[in-house]
Amino acid sequence: MTHSVCKQCGHVLLMTSLLALEKPLCPKCGNKYFTMKFHCSLEFLPHGSTRVKQKGPYHKSDKKLRREHFVGMEANKDGGLMVKERLIDKDADVYYEYVRGI
Ligand SMILES: [Zn+2]
Repeated sequence: MTHSVCKQCGHVLLMTSLLALEKPLCPKCGNKYFTMKFHCSLEFLPHGSTRVKQKGPYHKSDKKLRREHFVGMEANKDGGLMVKERLIDKDADVYYEYVRGI
């Protein structure tokens, strides 16, 4: 997830915190309009693999990468290909990895 910025007062809060509220209103001014800002990159890799990275602009440089999703094939240490899916979402505290040989 990423941060939401109140369009009225500029208050910044985590999107997960906003969604957890009974009414998604700014806790500072009560406004209901927010702007979400994040950087996203999509890499097309060999063997039809893709990797999506989402960075949050409000984090320090070493913590900007908030979410990464890899789907496709990757070589293991012996050089053989394996099917792999990996999801890392730091804000949602999720780590999922599925690996299968082919
Ligand atoms: Zn506000």
